[in-house]
Amino acid sequence: MDFQHVFARRTSRMKASEIRELLKLLDQPGIISFAGGIPDASYFPAEQFGAAYQAALSAETSATALQYSISEGYKPLRQWLAKEMQKLGVDCTVDNIMITSGSQQALDYLGKMLLSPGDTALINWPTYLGALGAFNAYEPRYDKLSINGNRSAADFAAAAEAEGGRVKFAYLSADFANPTGETVDQRGRENLIDLADELDCLIIEDGAYQSLRYDGEVIPPILALEIARKGSIEDCRTVYCGSFSKTLSPGLRIGWVCGAMPLISQMVLLKQAGDLHVSTINQMAINTVAETHFDQHVATLHSVYSVRRDAMLAALEEMMPKGVSWTKPEGGMFVWITLPAHLEANEVFKRALETEKVAFVPGQAFFADGTGKNTMRLAFSCADEATIREGIRRLSSVIKGLL
Ligand code: PMP
Repeated sequence: MDFQHVFARRTSRMKASEIRELLKLLDQPGIISFAGGIPDASYFPAEQFGAAYQAALSAETSATALQYSISEGYKPLRQWLAKEMQKLGVDCTVDNIMITSGSQQALDYLGKMLLSPGDTALINWPTYLGALGAFNAYEPRYDKLSINGNRSAADFAAAAEAEGGRVKFAYLSADFANPTGETVDQRGRENLIDLADELDCLIIEDGAYQSLRYDGEVIPPILALEIARKGSIEDCRTVYCGSFSKTLSPGLRIGWVCGAMPLISQMVLLKQAGDLHVSTINQMAINTVAETHFDQHVATLHSVYSVRRDAMLAALEEMMPKGVSWTKPEGGMFVWITLPAHLEANEVFKRALETEKVAFVPGQAFFADGTGKNTMRLAFSCADEATIREGIRRLSSVIKGLL
């Protein structure tokens, strides 16, 4: 049966994630994959989680662990997160924090809360594919975010009004973005706050990779800079979305939002209507592991991933032909490659998979306007140094062959 006619209009922009489709092709022996932007599972703190779940199910706490709980989230976890946010310069309380089912849910709820059809979301070209997926359901118009002052707030506002809506938010990852690995410097963050003030819109700061800085100078989150400027989180228009997915475990699906109380209260209403609350026992377990092992575990990840990043950058430098360029991330999981304009990453992908058994994600899917055909995302998080070197050797030979 054809069900299209019964689907709501909002489904028309929903499509299968290209990345998930690609990942299905990779289940063959001998493939070197730089495709999945996921943590290396061999470093999950499984033993600590085992003990934490067992403790949660003990006679004293099992009734709490297995029961419904409040939509805001498990309070001890919010207390721990409030302290972590304070360490980043975000002066906040538990009431400024709500727990979400991964930061992906925060993006969905923010889209639902802020976007009427035709409203404008300012995003980077390229941006996180999952953010486009989350926002698309709310039928926005996208405009290209610019924080270097070459487009005025009046210009953004006029373009949004011409389409019958207004600019509701700017969305970005300021640290080690997916897909580019790039970081926005402090001046860029300050410019963005100016722009949002002029547009009277929100800033959605995606901090999914924030904990994974391997070197370079720490730059405060946009929310921290805005609090420093305005005096209180209650006067701020930035909502910070955090996640445990890149640090402790993506499978537990735990993230959080941090922002002014009226924004959090509205998010709580969405959470109540959406799925009531995040799994109680998962929140308890993550709280226990975070309290006892977070810093130590993140330090381990830094040492593992930084060596892999260095291996990838060194191999690219040594083996890639002239005309190919790439980013030099200070953290996160990704290197972003730009090929000469006439070379299509889809072509490289097909050839690389068929002839050399090496995979990555072609970059076009990360562009809201379908450009970026000559770009590619490589994740360095899941392969050891020798494998990374061999993978880049294979990829370079495919690119040299196509040039
Ligand atoms: N934001 C970014 C930039 C991401 O890369 C991801 C995961 N790939 C997410 C949000 C969502 O992560 P989660 O829902 O697991 O917290």
